Amino acid sequence: MTLDKIQKELSNRKEEYLEQLFTLLRQKSISTQNVGITECAQLLKEMMEEIGIETQIMQTDGHPVVYGELVKDEKYFTLLIYGHYDVQPPEPIDDWLSPPFEPTIRNGRIYCRGAGDNKGQLIAQLLGLKTYMKVYGDLPINIKFIFEGEEEIGSPNLSSFVREHKGLLKADLVYTSDGSSHNSGAPLILLGTRGCLDLELKAKGADRENHSGNTGNILPNPAWKLINLLQTMCAQDGRVLVEGFYDHILPPSKREKELLQKLPFDAEDIGNKVGYPYLDMNGETYYHKLTMEPTFNINGIQSGYTGDGIQTIIPSTAIVKMDVRLVVDQDPMDIFHKIQRHVKAHDPDIEIEFISAMEPSRTSSDLEIVKVVTKAVQNVYQQEPLVQPSLGSSLPDYVWTKILGVPSIIMPYANFDQGNHSPNENLDIEYFLNGIQCTCHVIHALGEHAKHRNGEVLN
Ligand SMILES: [Zn+2]
Repeated sequence: MTLDKIQKELSNRKEEYLEQLFTLLRQKSISTQNVGITECAQLLKEMMEEIGIETQIMQTDGHPVVYGELVKDEKYFTLLIYGHYDVQPPEPIDDWLSPPFEPTIRNGRIYCRGAGDNKGQLIAQLLGLKTYMKVYGDLPINIKFIFEGEEEIGSPNLSSFVREHKGLLKADLVYTSDGSSHNSGAPLILLGTRGCLDLELKAKGADRENHSGNTGNILPNPAWKLINLLQTMCAQDGRVLVEGFYDHILPPSKREKELLQKLPFDAEDIGNKVGYPYLDMNGETYYHKLTMEPTFNINGIQSGYTGDGIQTIIPSTAIVKMDVRLVVDQDPMDIFHKIQRHVKAHDPDIEIEFISAMEPSRTSSDLEIVKVVTKAVQNVYQQEPLVQPSLGSSLPDYVWTKILGVPSIIMPYANFDQGNHSPNENLDIEYFLNGIQCTCHVIHALGEHAKHRNGEVLN
């Protein structure tokens, strides 16, 4: 069995495949403005049916999910592929060098809203399957697809959809290609994400602002109340003092530590990119802090007068907004309740408000299936992929690992500088073609793995 045939099929069909991507790109699907969503879901369904995938449009409380499957036998290994067909608004339109919804090729790249995020990557998955079937005539595993239309607005209905359709979505592995490859150009495999808890604390004084001389020492100052509380919550070295905050955190495994050590790190380069050229740490510490440790971040603070000159008042309120990034296995609601208890114990007058939350997620890098996919990726790119145990930021990966209860692997197909969410979003054609090839290799490797797993009984 040779995979050269895949490459040949791919180069024969390059133009045809690009045209299919262009068709999907031309169809607007701006979720936050509800523009073109229904039409895009319908178009995607037709494209999937043309490949031979049994497809349906499924309603949610928001934009619909496009679900498709090619199930040969319930007993077979099942791969569930996730992606999203919605895109960000194209604004500011004047900054685009070509129209945002007319795919245009310049310097080997396709410029269009959604090219990299996520239509190009989604189509690469579908065309990977199509190519594989063309070459081999059949699939060695079952494949299911779930494409949502609300990723760009925070996937508000994804968890309830997955909860309601656990049977339909039953799978052995979830595979996602979204996001960007590594800065170095090396393929990147992500095995999880941090969670997030957003909250607000509000201290109140008098019901209006008052003269700081005429009422000084008489009225309480909410800014000081809030600062005093915050100081009981976090030490100067950053350690969170809320009781039980660190209780459920899983330390990195031996393999995870090794993976973190292998990730490339250039303090100066990163420092320049974030506008803080004083990063005083090595790569291991950097990645540990970014992927294995929670944060306790103040993202906004407001009280009193901050304009020009001075206004001698005692403020009437002080507000702080926070986002707390969580790592496996911290539970957002558990952490919220702990913070709530802390506030109550230290200053019961201060109000705490829950804003939103997302659970963290991580797939063990020790799993055989992770090694199988990593090897397949390596075969395509002829380069050892970087494997990062977790993203620093948050994605709803927990719907797969926690609700569906299966491992999840994220393998971005887009170039690092795809400019997603920005004007002149683009996808490098080589990356697109590699993505198609990568899907073929992953399908093939999973087929071999399943044969192995079942002692050849299935084939
Ligand atoms: Zn996006």
